[in-house]
Amino acid sequence: MKDRTLLMIPGPIEFEPDVLQALGAPTTSHVAPEFIEVFGQALERMRKVWLCPSGQPFVVAGSGMLALEMAVVNLIEPGDKALVLETGVFGDRYAELLARYGAEVTVLRAPLGNTVDLEQTEATLQDASYKLMTLTHVDTSTGVRVDAKALGVLGRKYGVLTVLDGVCSVAGEELCQQEWGIDVALSASQKAIGVPPGLALLMVGPQAMAAWRARKSAVSSYYADWSNWLPIMEAYEARRPSYFGTPPVNLICALNVSLEQILGEGMEARFVRHRKLGEACKAAISALGMSQVPTDPAHAAATLTAPYYPEGVTGTELLPKVKAAGAILAGGLHPKIKDRYFRIGHMGATKPGDLLATIGALEAGLHACSYTFDRGTGVAAAQRVLLS
Ligand SMILES: *Cc1c(COP(=O)(O)O)cnc(C)c1O
Repeated sequence: MKDRTLLMIPGPIEFEPDVLQALGAPTTSHVAPEFIEVFGQALERMRKVWLCPSGQPFVVAGSGMLALEMAVVNLIEPGDKALVLETGVFGDRYAELLARYGAEVTVLRAPLGNTVDLEQTEATLQDASYKLMTLTHVDTSTGVRVDAKALGVLGRKYGVLTVLDGVCSVAGEELCQQEWGIDVALSASQKAIGVPPGLALLMVGPQAMAAWRARKSAVSSYYADWSNWLPIMEAYEARRPSYFGTPPVNLICALNVSLEQILGEGMEARFVRHRKLGEACKAAISALGMSQVPTDPAHAAATLTAPYYPEGVTGTELLPKVKAAGAILAGGLHPKIKDRYFRIGHMGATKPGDLLATIGALEAGLHACSYTFDRGTGVAAAQRVLLS
């Protein structure tokens, strides 16, 4: 038997063998012509994956949190007003971050499992002159997806910079950054982008770059300051050597491989595949008699599913049993319901067969926990969607 357990959490995920091979290749100099070419290609490909032809990409060593912080530290000056649309834990993170850099923060909270109300958002935007608004495209703690397109339109209407936390969405959920008027869309390598953890990725539109250039005060982080990174990104794209801080050479080689694969699949096809995987997983969960954190399928993410445990089943009991049956799932993250739900990631390299194997493992775990259900019903429900 193959000694492999599927990693089906909302990041890190299963990675493609070619991506992992790039990580294991001998490391070159960060100014070697071959590497300059790879980095330059990766930056060009990012624009196509983000669907943002006029964007300025940034690739910096760090986790997704650095990407969140970079957007704030470069765009916010003390006293600026910021609006946070909170649909889970990562919205609260943004509120803390903004406050740390001196913003006057207003948080619009969605009820747990719900998305933000567009009318309420518009009314709030009318109320005060916000410089910036943050939205979590998919909040990984709730599995809720916001309507990024409609929020981008609102941002433009009220002259507010929109910053989209796309760590759990970019290259999985539909996102047309430029067309939707999103000023910054940021992500990290280890989720739908399909590369092991370690890269903070940002795509910054022209209006956000202009706002950064118009700052009166210096950026209060040295490492995160775009002044230090913009010349580096421009140099790699122009295929010139440059240096500010040593780039994670192998991770960037792996990123370039993954971006090539993503574009090879095609963005539209990729969005459709993720939607289908998401629907299949959710159909299985419903068929197994479990409810989910998102209150309506219309705002449930395609990249992950967040089911509540059935009556009488706990995570401490269930998750190790599911793992023993072949799939690693994640526990809860939202403090209000942490022990009442779990999370299944299905993004990036996830194949239909991986999802079926995962649902099969979940059924095995539920069965071992003495939960009563019609065996095979979850797998069948998922398969019906996958084959539709
Ligand atoms: C994972 C995640 C983050 C944090 O990314 P790290 O790489 O863990 O720092 C931020 N926002 C969202 C929506 C995420 O899913």
